Amino acid sequence: MLNTNFTKIFGVQHPIVQGGMQWVGRAPLVAAVANAGALGFITALTQPTPEDLTKEIAKCRNLTDKPFGVNLTILPALKPPPYAEYRHAIIEAGIKIVETAGYNPQEHMPHFKENGVKIIHKCTAVRHAVKAEKIGVDAISIDGFECAGHPGEDDIPGLILIPAAADKVKIPMIASGGFGDGRGLVAALALGADGINMGTRFMATEEAQIHDNIKRRMVENDERSTQLIFRTLRNTARVARNKISEEVVEIEKGGAEISDLAPLVSGQRGKIVYEEGDPDYGIWSAGMIQGLIHDVPTVDELVSRIVREAEAIISDRLGGSMGSGRVAAE
Ligand code: NAD
Repeated sequence: MLNTNFTKIFGVQHPIVQGGMQWVGRAPLVAAVANAGALGFITALTQPTPEDLTKEIAKCRNLTDKPFGVNLTILPALKPPPYAEYRHAIIEAGIKIVETAGYNPQEHMPHFKENGVKIIHKCTAVRHAVKAEKIGVDAISIDGFECAGHPGEDDIPGLILIPAAADKVKIPMIASGGFGDGRGLVAALALGADGINMGTRFMATEEAQIHDNIKRRMVENDERSTQLIFRTLRNTARVARNKISEEVVEIEKGGAEISDLAPLVSGQRGKIVYEEGDPDYGIWSAGMIQGLIHDVPTVDELVSRIVREAEAIISDRLGGSMGSGRVAAE
């Protein structure tokens, strides 16, 4: 058993989180994560309306009696979603853990706090983590440059970002970006985190509702199979490298605006990739951890394997147990 400040405060068995993933964070995956003793998040904006989110939460409750949360990501969007209405749906459904990401969650904090909701804020910079702690979030998910989706604009990998954040933040901290096995979990704990967040690794599991072709492509891909798009718009996103991502970067070289890219990059097109299984049809998110993904296990097999590997590393290679306290640079 790996007990950390995170497992204690959030009431989960293992220090492993399945964070928000557009089109992927749905009830069957999230319930499987909860049943495996980790903490899963339904992705709010994957549901077309707040009413659909309410139904998805109910569906998840039918599949597990363990805790799970909802992710609310606030990023530039072609058609901005009604964030406050999603927040109301989350609270009214009685959800007690929310992962916020993409933008400062301040405007949503009072309503969540009044309703006893714990907030894990995912961010990509130490200064944002410090700010989030100051405005009262309960935990930080610090997301390194290796991650899928939006790594920010500072390009700081986890090896530096995690301990730099651990030196400044006192609340529990989850390490995100580039995690997928027991080695990563032990490394995250050594760097000062209280657990790991995984997205891409959970996509390549039996319960993730995405086409088998995409899972197969993730197994075939290596650590070089991602590409950064939207650099020129300061909305950088790490995605699986494919025909469309190459085309987007080529257009960006000529000084593109979002309207020039919209037909290629729309989330709706990415959704079809997952549904129909053509990896070159649209943009889909994936991180560098693809280089360490070699199979498509069940969620339960994955979580128990990671914990088993981590425990073996701690006892056989490090010669003992790892406490939950942080080792801070003096
Ligand atoms: P979309 O179709 O609205 O946009 C496609 C892409 O273009 C996205 O990456 C978006 O960030 C980017 N974009 C849109 N307008 C932009 C602008 N003005 N400047 C720069 N970049 C711009 O995206 P979608 O994939 O359908 O996402 C819709 C919603 O889902 C967004 O509100 C976003 O916050 C959210 N989302 C959530 C997650 C998650 O894991 N929770 C991941 C991605 C997106």
